Amino acid sequence: MAYVCMHCGKELKTLEKNTIRCPYCGYRVLVKKRSSLTKEVSTD
Ligand SMILES: [Zn+2]
Repeated sequence: MAYVCMHCGKELKTLEKNTIRCPYCGYRVLVKKRSSLTKEVSTD
């Protein structure tokens, strides 16, 4: 399960079990990538 940092938008493929934190910016709010929170629309 991949996660996306709500702050910098980086995708996190792995998370340390006891460290829910973005390794890039240190932000602590992450969302699951498959979540319905992802509302990007492709203009295909
Ligand atoms: Zn981040």
